[in-house]
Amino acid sequence: MTRRHFHTIIIGGGPAGMGAAISLLKDKAEVCVIDKAVFPRDKTCAGLVTAKTYRLIRALFGDENTDGIFCCSANTIRLFDRSELLTESALRQPVRLVNRRHFDNALVEEYKRNGGTMLEGEKDLKIDYEKNTVTLSDGEALSYDYLLFADGALSMAHKELRVDRRGLAFGIEAYIPARQLEVSSVDLYFGYLNSGYIWVFPHGETVCVGAADQFRRGADYRKLLTGFLSELGVDPQGVRYVGAFLPYGELIPQNRLPENVMLLGDAGGFTDPISGEGLYMSMQSGIYAAQALGTPSPKKAYLDSMEFISRTVRDGKKVQKAFYSFPIQKTFLKKVRGKNRLVAYFFEEMVDEYHYEYRSVKQLLADYKKSK
Ligand SMILES: Cc1cc2nc3c(=O)[nH]c(=O)nc-3n(C[C@H](O)[C@H](O)[C@H](O)COP(=O)(O)OP(=O)(O)OC[C@H]3O[C@@H](n4cnc5c(N)ncnc54)[C@H](O)[C@@H]3O)c2cc1C
Repeated sequence: MTRRHFHTIIIGGGPAGMGAAISLLKDKAEVCVIDKAVFPRDKTCAGLVTAKTYRLIRALFGDENTDGIFCCSANTIRLFDRSELLTESALRQPVRLVNRRHFDNALVEEYKRNGGTMLEGEKDLKIDYEKNTVTLSDGEALSYDYLLFADGALSMAHKELRVDRRGLAFGIEAYIPARQLEVSSVDLYFGYLNSGYIWVFPHGETVCVGAADQFRRGADYRKLLTGFLSELGVDPQGVRYVGAFLPYGELIPQNRLPENVMLLGDAGGFTDPISGEGLYMSMQSGIYAAQALGTPSPKKAYLDSMEFISRTVRDGKKVQKAFYSFPIQKTFLKKVRGKNRLVAYFFEEMVDEYHYEYRSVKQLLADYKKSK
């Protein structure tokens, strides 16, 4: 029997995998995406889409085809110190939100519509880096020129690399019917967690309430969220919680993998260590990897194009420690109380867009003062 061969095999059909897969199809490459799940599938994620992410979504779907992808949008961001409302800032442009089950499925559908091969429900893959093969659960071996791991924070490639999972964060969330909790803004609550925050985001007919923090064995995140829901006046009885890991500032050293093997998105450790935002870095890493595969040194080209993102992760990790330590955070929250415009400026310039790096916060503040 002739073995099926693909230019690129991508393990994981989330935003990182699809970022690469859709881009590679545009270059007419033979691509195969393999996922352990059958789509549509759920993914624990608050679904906040920043302006920089929105641009990537438009690039992947084509500018005209993004209607119906978003579950809602918000024009205001509010910061809280526990229950105290500190700021309420109108944003220049709305922040969008996606339901990940729907969004990820739309990406997969777009990929399939463009002729991509997708193998779903493949829970037991075996990789042979020397033979360049991926063996499926039924024993069929597929060969590849390039192998991209886009299989999330607990990537199967991490075993080979002996990645220490203590660097991960853990996030938990619950979806509350909007009739029980009326929220139309993006709300961030500080003061509850040692190294993270609680969010309340509108999601159309539901509201996403979640928390993410540096993972600590034995921490009862469910209890924390139950208590928080009670504070909001929501009866926590019968609420369903879901949880997942996310990278939190530890880049995975992928040079130890063969030259034709790369890690994308969460599998590579690419999320923002302050906000936890991962959709942008995931899709962007997929797009960069696809562009790099056509060059003489693909891995170097990929990692070079990821340098800005990698620096954001490294710098963000340093800032994370200070930002989330209670005494510093208390001072910060005291300073921003009532400063609605400053918070909007910070969000628009450093979160919605990466116009400033974490190392340039002082510059941002100076520019803000000038802009007043
Ligand atoms: C609680 C929480 C809230 C978040 N909120 C936001 C937010 O509001 N905005 C934002 O930008 N980011 C957010 N993130 C981060 C974001 O969800 C991730 O960064 C993003 O999903 C990463 O995309 P990915 O494609 O790398 O991985 P994933 O989205 O995790 O996709 C990985 C895919 O690989 C498949 N897979 C896994 N293992 C295997 C295997 N062994 N074999 C085959 N397939 C496999 C999975 O089924 C999945 O389809 C949040 C994360 C968490 C945990």
